[in-house]
Order: sequence, then structure tokens, then C-alpha cells
Amino acid sequence: MTAPRKRWPQLDHAALFSRFRIGTRLAAMMALAVAVTVVLAASGLHALAAANESLYMVHEGRMKPVRTLAQISLLMLANQQQLQMALGRTADGRSPSLDPLPARSAREAIEHNVQAIDRLWSEYATGPLGGQERALADTFASSRARYLGEAVMPALEALSTLSYHDTQRLAATARALYERAYPEIQALTDLQFQMAHAAYADGVQRYAHARWLAVSALLASMAVLSLLGMLLIRSIVHPLQAAQQVFQRIARGELNSPIVVQGHDEISELMTALRDMQTQLGAKEKAIHQLVYYDPLTSLPNRSLLKENVQAALAASARDDHHRALLLLDLDNFKAINDTLGHELGDAFLVDTADRLQQVVQPPHFIARIGGDEFVVLAGQLSADAATALAQAGLLADRLLAAVNGPCQLAGQWHHGSASIGICLFRRQDATMKDLLKRADTAMYHAKSAGRNSYCLFDPALQAQLETRTALEAALRGAMAAGELELHFQVQVNAERKASGAEVLLRWNHPAHGSVPPAQFIPIAEVSGLIHAIGTWVLQQACAQLKAWDAQPSTSHLELAVNVSAKQFCHPDFVAQVCGALDHAGANPRLLVLELTESLVLHDIADTVRKMQALRRRGVRFALDDFGTGYSSLSHLKQLPLHYLKVDGCFVRDIVTDPSDVAIVQTIVGMARNLGLRVIAEGVETEAQRHVLQGLQCPVFQGYLFGRPMPMPHFEERLGMPPPPSRSTPPSAVPVYMPATLSQEIP
Ligand code: C2E
Ligand code: MG
Ligand code: MG
Repeated sequence: MTAPRKRWPQLDHAALFSRFRIGTRLAAMMALAVAVTVVLAASGLHALAAANESLYMVHEGRMKPVRTLAQISLLMLANQQQLQMALGRTADGRSPSLDPLPARSAREAIEHNVQAIDRLWSEYATGPLGGQERALADTFASSRARYLGEAVMPALEALSTLSYHDTQRLAATARALYERAYPEIQALTDLQFQMAHAAYADGVQRYAHARWLAVSALLASMAVLSLLGMLLIRSIVHPLQAAQQVFQRIARGELNSPIVVQGHDEISELMTALRDMQTQLGAKEKAIHQLVYYDPLTSLPNRSLLKENVQAALAASARDDHHRALLLLDLDNFKAINDTLGHELGDAFLVDTADRLQQVVQPPHFIARIGGDEFVVLAGQLSADAATALAQAGLLADRLLAAVNGPCQLAGQWHHGSASIGICLFRRQDATMKDLLKRADTAMYHAKSAGRNSYCLFDPALQAQLETRTALEAALRGAMAAGELELHFQVQVNAERKASGAEVLLRWNHPAHGSVPPAQFIPIAEVSGLIHAIGTWVLQQACAQLKAWDAQPSTSHLELAVNVSAKQFCHPDFVAQVCGALDHAGANPRLLVLELTESLVLHDIADTVRKMQALRRRGVRFALDDFGTGYSSLSHLKQLPLHYLKVDGCFVRDIVTDPSDVAIVQTIVGMARNLGLRVIAEGVETEAQRHVLQGLQCPVFQGYLFGRPMPMPHFEERLGMPPPPSRSTPPSAVPVYMPATLSQEIP
């Protein structure tokens, strides 16, 4: 069994370094380098000084004594020579005395040498001498003393006395003593030399040691500094690389990756700032994402996110067999809630509805709000079988409708909303979101027209219908300017078959579609808002016609009935519009009859009454059109300043055969009489119908029996009026007619 290996605690250099600021680290590194350099330089200088000192010691301390001893030895030898030189002048040896000149010269030289030897020796002898040196020196000192005492000093005496023999003898003594002292001084010199050599060797060794130390210290400090430098560089570069990676991640938009901050240095501060920045960027990105992809009011996904989901669904539908569906949900009458309760409560209603819808729509379905009161549900993963998929979409639509129907409390009152839904099923289709939305919109529109609070599946036929409608709307915009709109007039007669007036009926002579019936284009004009311009034009034409009739006694009593659509009547300027048309034409208001429908007057009864009374004060009269088909109550009828009730043609059609129609018309006539209203029977086509109606005391009739709607020239012709002299004037201009016999019966 092997013993577990001891794990040394790992030293985290990065963490250790990052505790200190980079500036501090670099400064410390610099200080360390300087300190090491100083230490190395000092130790180098020290080594040099030691080497220098050892050389000096060799030179001064050891070689100088050698030189001194050599000089002493030489001086002693020189004395010998001086004596020989003094003896040399009397080389024949017969003269007892020496030649005085050389003797004196020799004596002076020897005295000088003796002094020099004394000085040199005393210098040497007083210097620091070791034991062996001292012993040898003492031996030599005694030999020298003997040499001086026994030879040199007497020799000087002999030289001064010019004694040749004494000099010769003493020279011999001096040589003998010199030769005896020489080995001693030589031994001393050798000793000195050896010591000098030893000092030199020691100096060399110390120098080598110091050099080795210096080089080792240099290498060691270089290694330590390199290691420290490397760790320092790593402690800066690694966090910088980590920071770089974080920057790159942020640049790539990855704002969720965590940023680890270690230590307290500048890079740590940078990373902390970066982390804060990343957090802020993340929050901002989230906010931007919310703004771009979510509806701020309901927090539901918006059109952009829906588009992405639909595109993904379309892409997925190209790969699998599943059906998917787009359900366009539009709240019914939301505008009314907004108008009556105000926008704030309207918004609250939307939020509440959105919450309830969201509870119904769970994955894989998806819901978005794409407009004011429009929501879109993308139903995913429906069955591959079309019928089942349709049933699934229908079920979802039912649940959505139920969610919208749920009670919602607004301003302390409970409200129940409703919605219309258009469903567009799709599978493996090359369609765009726009196409799908258009189809769902068509179906939704159909659901609306079918009575609301229901859903409808997209049908291509519906689409075609809608496209025709859209094309008609575009064409209608230019119709008035192109002079394609025309007024037809249908006569109204009294019990004596005499013309009492006419109803103005609008016609659109479309260059491609021919005559487009008003029932088809009036709703389009209402939706597109064109009804205001068209209605004003009709009113102006009618007033101009009244004015034209007013000029003729035979026609001046004729009334003109103008149909007013709900949208036109609801316009705040409607009263001013009518008055303006009357004023502009100068027509008699009493002969203008405005035909309103029951649904129109019931929409906002108070506003209706107010407007009707305002016009009534001007003299304008009102007829309730298509009476009997709506839901007006007697109390409503009582409030309205009406003049006529127009019994709808549907009660007239079978009046000859159906007793209940007789009963209805009879009731209407009786009720009208009680309310002080006149009755006009519409759609009278046969003499039999007229007969029954007349029997029921119906005072005025209108229908094909008396005349179809026709342009004014034909109308006047039918009335027996002569044709106008010229029709070069525009229709709005009032032609002057000759008096006609209008009292005759209408054929
Ligand atoms: P309305 O006001 O009830 O007009 C009577 C409709 O019955 C007219 O249809 C007329 O041609 C038709 N009619 C008249 N006598 C007979 C008859 O004996 N038998 C049958 N079967 N029908 C008869 P039209 O001209 O197609 O107008 C339809 C509706 O369009 C009008 O119903 C009216 O509501 C609306 N309208 C017509 N002109 C205008 C207009 O200038 N402005 C507005 N807002 N609506 C208009
Ligand atoms: Mg009418
Ligand atoms: Mg009618």
C-alpha cells in the first residue's frame, strides 16, 4: 500500500497578487529590483575592495619588507665594494696608507649606506612581525650588530686614518660577517616572500569566492526577479484576458454570463464596473425587449413577437402535418365602452380582458395584442385531420368568447364584453402573416356582420366579397368627383293618386360594374367615412331641387324625402349641415323630409331628439323609414318629433293574401293617427295592394305602381311637366320649369 501523497496547499498567485493594486505591485517589483541591484553592487564592490586589499597587502605588507631586506643586503654588499674600491688604488700593497680621496669617498658612501641600512632595518624591525619573522629578524639583527661593530665601524676608522692594512683586514672581516649574515637575511627574505605569496594566494581565493558569491547572487536574484516578474505579468495579463473575454461576450450580446471579481486591484475594479455595466445593459436590454416585443398596456406580446411566432409556425408547418390556426379576436362595441366610460376605464377593460384571455391561451398556443381592441391567438399543434383541427380551433374560440363574456367590474358596475373571432386554419402553406391576418380578418368581419359574439372560419368566398368591397371603397372615393353619383326620384302619391312628393334615392353609375345599388355602397360609405361628403351632396341637390320646384306653383307644394344614414346623423355637425344646405339653396325647410331608420334613432335617443328638435324648429320634417322592422317602442315614438311613419314594404308585399299584414298595417295606421303622424306605405306594386291599403285609411303611397325611382328629367316627364329648355347647367343649378298640371292622377 502506498501512502497517500501529501498535497501541498496550492498557492493561488493570482488571488495573492490581486490583493494589491497593480501600481503597488509594479512599484514593489521595481523597489525589489533596485534593492537587489544595490545589494549585488555593494557585494561586488565589497569583493573588489577585498581583492584590492589583498593585493595591497601583498604589495605593501609583504613585498615591501622583501624589498627592504634586499636593499639592506645590497647595501651591505655595496659597503664591501666601497672598501675594495678604497683598497684598490694601492693595489701594489706596498703603501701603508690609503689614497685619501677614494678612502674618503668610500667612507662617506659606507656611512651613507650604514645610515640607510639603519633606517631600513628600523622600519622593518618596528613593523608588525610574526613570531618566525621576529626570531629570524633577531638573529639577523645580532649578526648585523656584529657586522657593524666588528667590521664596518672599525673599517670607517681605518678609512679615516687611511690605514691600508686595517682597512684590508676589516674588509675581510666585513665580508666574512656579511657572508655569515647573508643566509640569515636571505632566510628572512624567503620567509617574507613566502608570506607574500600566501597573502597573494589568499587574496586570489577571496576574490574568486567573492566573484562566485556575486555571480551566484546575481543569478539567484535574476531568477527570483524573473519569477516574480512572470507572476506579476501573469497576475495582470490573466485578468486582462478574462476581461477581454467578458468584453467579447458582451459584444456578442451574451449579457447573462457571470463575471467573477477577485481581489481589489485596478482590474478587479474594472471588472466590478463591467459587471455593473453588464447588469445595467441586461436590464436595459430586457426593457428594450419588453418595449419591442410586448404591449405596454396589457403586457401581452405585440405584433412584432406575433410575427416572429407566426413565421416560426409557418416554417414548422412546412415540416410537419399539423394544422395551425390564427384566430383574430375583435372586441364588440369597445368604442362604446371607451366613449361612455372614458379611456382610462377602457384601458382597464382591455387589461382585464387580456388577463382572462391569457388564462385560456396556454402553450402551445400563443396570444398577442395587435391593436386597440384586437387580439390574435396563434393556435399551434392542431390535428393533422382538418375536421378535428377545425373542431379544436372552434373549441378554443368558444373558450376565448366565454373568457371575454366574463364579468368585469368598471367604475363600480359589472360589464360583460363580447367579441367576434375570425379563424384562419393553415397547414403547409406558402403564406405570410399578412395573408393569414387578412383571411382571419375577413372571417372576423363576417362574424361581426353575423351578429357578433361568435366566431367564423375563413372562407375564400368571404375573401372575394371583402376584396370587392375594398375595391368598391377605393372606387367610391373618386365617384363623386367623376360625376358617377346620380339622384333618382320616386314619387309619393296621396289617396287621390296625386303626387305629394318624392323620395330621393342615390345611384352610383360605376363605369365597370354598372349601376351599384345603394344598399351595397352606402354601408361602405359609412365605414370609410365618405358618407359625410356624399350625404352633404345629396342634401344640397335635394334642397336645390326643392328650390327649383318652389318657383313653379304646380310643384311648389311637393315634398322631397332624403334618406339619412346613421353615421351621417351622428356627426356633430349634422344639424348645421342640413341648415347650410337649406340656406345655400334658399329652399323651404317645410318641404324637406329627412328619413331616419329605427335603429338610428334608438342609438342615442337623447342626441337624436335634440338634433331632430333643432331641425324641427327650422321647419324640417322627419319620417321614420322601414317602420315595423325595428324595435322602436311607443314611448320612443312619442319622444320623437316625427311627421311620417313609412310602413316597410315587407308588410305591403303580401297584404292582399296575409291577414296578419293587414292587421299590422291597420295597427300602424291607427297608432300613427293617435300620435298625429301620417303614414306612407312603401313598396306598393299592385292595384290590389293599393286598394287594401286605401281601405285601411293609409293616406300616402310609394311604389312601382306609381313610378320607379328615375332621374329628374324622366320624373318630371312622368309628372307631365314639359322638359326643361336646356340641360347644359350642372345638376345642382336650379332649372326654371313651366307650370304643369300636377293635379292629374298618376297613371
Ligand atoms: P329605402 O329608403 O327604404 O328606399 C326604398 C327602397 O325600396 C328603394 O330601394 C326603392 O327603389 C325600393 N322600392 C320602391 N318601391 C318599390 C316597390 O314597389 N317594390 C320594391 N321591391 N322595391 C321598391 P333602393 O333605391 O335600392 O334603396 C335602398 C335603400 O338605400 C333605401 O331604402 C335607403 O335606405 C338607402 N338609400 C338610398 N338612397 C340613399 C341616400 O341618398 N342616402 C342614404 N343614407 N341612404 C340611401
Ligand atoms: Mg327611405
Ligand atoms: Mg324604406
